[in-house]
Amino acid sequence: MPDAGPCIIICAVEILAPESWEEALALKAANPEAVPIAGGTDVMVELNFDRMRPAAMLDLTRVAALSDWGVDDGWLRVGAGVSYTRIIDELGDRLPSLAVASRTVGSPQIRNRGTVGGNLGTASPAGDALPPLYVADAEVELAAPSGTRRVPVAEFITGPKRTSAREDELIAAFHVPAAQGAQQFAKIGTRNAMVIAVCSLALAIWPERRAVRACLGSAGPTPLPATEAEAFIAGVLDEEALWESRRPIGDSALRRFGELVAGAARPIDDVRGSAAYRSHALAVLGRRTLSWAWEEQRCA
Ligand SMILES: Cc1cc2nc3c(=O)[nH]c(=O)nc-3n(C[C@H](O)[C@H](O)[C@H](O)COP(=O)(O)OP(=O)(O)OC[C@H]3O[C@@H](n4cnc5c(N)ncnc54)[C@H](O)[C@@H]3O)c2cc1C
Repeated sequence: MPDAGPCIIICAVEILAPESWEEALALKAANPEAVPIAGGTDVMVELNFDRMRPAAMLDLTRVAALSDWGVDDGWLRVGAGVSYTRIIDELGDRLPSLAVASRTVGSPQIRNRGTVGGNLGTASPAGDALPPLYVADAEVELAAPSGTRRVPVAEFITGPKRTSAREDELIAAFHVPAAQGAQQFAKIGTRNAMVIAVCSLALAIWPERRAVRACLGSAGPTPLPATEAEAFIAGVLDEEALWESRRPIGDSALRRFGELVAGAARPIDDVRGSAAYRSHALAVLGRRTLSWAWEEQRCA
């Protein structure tokens, strides 16, 4: 038998390219296996490394409605297709923690293409947009031809790379109240740019609620709210009347807050860092982000 030479297998991928949101929802419902693609900065990596061979892809880049943002009933509604660059340029004053996190994502090219909707869709424990959404009390808007629903981000993300979205649903937007107080985000990486977080921390001060919210990234299977640290610092701010006096938070309280932040972690050893290093780094991030944010808050 003659040698047939190298065999090249070509797998056809059907590309569905809706022009409108209604068409996108109808196509997703009719083709639940179709993988949505927005900026493609996660999906294309999966394809290139052959970790995914979808029969169909749903290209959302022509759906203009996904790139809109606006104010809806006092909340910001930010379309799933709004890029990191636009979050930084257009929403930095209203969503400071998310904007700082966005500045740490990848490179200018990745920030131009990558979207917060894509970060939600991937639901990686290291997704940098996620902890800021937790501390801002964000809700994810999911849509299907049968209707839309809003889910708190902590209920949307159910595990590492798992979400509560149904197969027929797309992420339409996220909803978030504009920041009422100072916010921060800090991330540890093995270098300054183009780096997946070893660990990260988002923090938001809510003066009207007399509360501080903190959420850890890349320190467990999902972003992790630091609830004990939050309760501790709320007590300190009240008992020492710091909301009224606007005095700085004492060193011992900052240190204890950092320890409690670290205590909320469920870190693992991996190529990016050891569990012990992550815990140490989170205690430092807790202390620093709180002191930066409180300084901004009390001087405002
Ligand atoms: C070089 C490089 C550096 C990176 N650096 C960082 C970093 O520093 N921090 C970080 O967090 N991430 C980083 N990433 C990962 C990636 O850029 C982000 O996760 C980004 O937010 C993904 O957005 P996207 O629009 O490109 O998503 P896509 O790749 O298009 O999609 C991601 C996932 O979301 C789904 N999806 C997208 N839109 C929708 C929708 N509307 N409805 C339902 N599902 C949807 C897709 O099906 C897919 O599962 C990096 C990636 C690369 C290649």
